[in-house]
Amino acid sequence: MSRILVENGRTSGVVLEDGEEISASTVVSAVDPRRTFFGLVGEENLDPEFAAGIRRFRLRGSSGKVNLALDGLPEFACRPGAGAHLKGDITIAPSFQYLETAYQDAKEGRWSRKPFLDIVIPSLTDPTLAPPGKHVMSCFVQYAPYALAEGPETWPSQREAFGDAVIRVLEEYCPGISSLILHRHILTPWDLEKEYGLTEGNIFHGELGLDQLGFMRPVPGWARWKSPIHGLWMCASGTHPGGGVMGASGGLAAREILAAGAVS
Ligand SMILES: Cc1cc2nc3c(=O)[nH]c(=O)nc-3n(C[C@H](O)[C@H](O)[C@H](O)COP(=O)(O)OP(=O)(O)OC[C@H]3O[C@@H](n4cnc5c(N)ncnc54)[C@H](O)[C@@H]3O)c2cc1C
Repeated sequence: MSRILVENGRTSGVVLEDGEEISASTVVSAVDPRRTFFGLVGEENLDPEFAAGIRRFRLRGSSGKVNLALDGLPEFACRPGAGAHLKGDITIAPSFQYLETAYQDAKEGRWSRKPFLDIVIPSLTDPTLAPPGKHVMSCFVQYAPYALAEGPETWPSQREAFGDAVIRVLEEYCPGISSLILHRHILTPWDLEKEYGLTEGNIFHGELGLDQLGFMRPVPGWARWKSPIHGLWMCASGTHPGGGVMGASGGLAAREILAAGAVS
C-alpha cells in the first residue's frame, strides 16, 4: 500500500502501489505508527500536536538476524552430541559483563563485536525445513544499532563483517561450525527496514520503553487503537500492549473496532 486517503479529517480508503484505489470508510493499519502517519497518511493531514507525539515516538532498532543452512547438526563444546538440548532456545550470554560490553558497542554506534545470540534450530522440530541430514539455524543477534556512527546507510557495507562476528562467536561455542555452513543470510536493521517496512529496523514497531507503554503507546490520548483521522485505526505492535508474538495488539484493536460499530 502506498497511501491512506484522507479528506476533511476522515479516511476514504487506500491507494495500492500499482495505483489502484480501494474505497473504505474504515481502514486499519498494521504498520508502525511513524510509517502509518508520516508515510501513508502524510503530515499535512495531521493535527500538529499529534504529529509531534508521533515524531517523538522512538523506534531505534537494535537487533539483527543471521540465518544459517547447515550441512549437519552443530556440536556445542559444553554439551557435545545431539540431544533434546538442541531443540530448545540456546542463548549465548555468558555473563553480565559480556552483555554490558556488547551493549557498550551499540551505545557508541557500532554492532557488538561479541554479540548476544539467541539461537534456535527449527529443522529439529519441523524436518521439512531442510533436506535429510541438513539443518537450518536461526540466530537473533544483539546489539545491532540502526544508527551506526557512520550512518545507517553504511549497514550494507558492514553486513558481511557483522555476519562474520556472529560466526566467530558461534565458533567459540561450537568448534567446527564454520565448516558446516552451506549458506548464510544476514539481516541488519537496515535490511529489516528496507525489506519488511520495519522503520529503523525496530522489530516491535517502537521501543518498549516505560514512557511508550500502556496509555502512552503510541502517544498519550491515542492509546485505544483509534486515531485522530476518523475511520483510521491502528492494530500493530506500535499500539498497546506492544510487540512480541502474541497478537494482543491486533486482537484488542479488533474488539474495539467492532464495539465502535466501525465494521458490520
Ligand atoms: C528478527 C526478528 C526476531 C524477532 N524475535 C521475536 C521473538 O523471539 N519473540 C517475540 O515475541 N517477538 C519477536 N519478534 C517480534 C515480532 O515478530 C513482532 O513483534 C510481531 O511480528 C509484530 O506483529 P505485527 O503484526 O504487529 O507486525 P508485523 O509482523 O511487522 O506485520 C506488519 C506487516 O505490514 C507489512 N507492511 C509494511 N509496510 C507496508 C505497506 N506500505 N503496505 C502493505 N504492507 C506493509 C510488513 O511487510 C509486515 O508484513 C521478532 C521480529 C524480528 C524481525
